[in-house]
Amino acid sequence: MLSKPLFEQEGNDIIRKESFKMGISKYEGIDLCNGIIKIEGYNRIGYHNKIDDRKEVAVRIDSKVTPIFCSACNKQVPGFYKHLGSRYGQVGAITCERCQSTIYVTDNDNIVDTLHNSVGTYRNPFLMDVEKLDNVMQTYTFDYSSLYFLNGWIFEQIEAATGFQLLQEFDGWVDLADVIVRICEKINQSISPFTKTPYYTDPRIAELPDVIHTWLGLLVYLGIIKEKEKEKEEFKNWVM
Ligand SMILES: [Zn+2]
Repeated sequence: MLSKPLFEQEGNDIIRKESFKMGISKYEGIDLCNGIIKIEGYNRIGYHNKIDDRKEVAVRIDSKVTPIFCSACNKQVPGFYKHLGSRYGQVGAITCERCQSTIYVTDNDNIVDTLHNSVGTYRNPFLMDVEKLDNVMQTYTFDYSSLYFLNGWIFEQIEAATGFQLLQEFDGWVDLADVIVRICEKINQSISPFTKTPYYTDPRIAELPDVIHTWLGLLVYLGIIKEKEKEKEEFKNWVM
């Protein structure tokens, strides 16, 4: 079937012709495990390649439901938000429930592996020098790979500890919840001890989706990351 083209040329401009979904809105669902974050494993030439032809595992991330941070009141906004799509990186705006500031949300216009939350204006890499802007404007950037411990190195450690190989088990994009189930099956371990465990990587973002608490709980159980006593104390301070 023929479909209408998404883009058309108008003079020197490429115009997106078809309306499509974009924006960000409060996530009203109760399921904070499934459909929250998707990952895709792939092989890339890595440091091994200097010695032999092995390639290292790397991971792409697409965040569908996310925490939001308000730089004006310097706190995480309560609840979670659903990413509905973006146009040239511009996602949409949210009003902070605490201080009523407008939080402008931008991404990198493809898969959502990072998300910028700015107060003041949109952080638009197509229209401005964002590095200059970051020096004067308050922006919190979610880098899901480091915030959620989702990267190739982590999957190498999981393989060493459990025998689970992401690229053998799943082809293409997969829900992180399904990855956790498969790893737990591999080690004959129930998921329940890991859910809602208050591990986190940035004390300012202490309220994470259940699937991420479960993921970090599993990584601690496998001995890949360590729970830190000091951060436990900070955690108490941030959730008050
Ligand atoms: Zn605020």
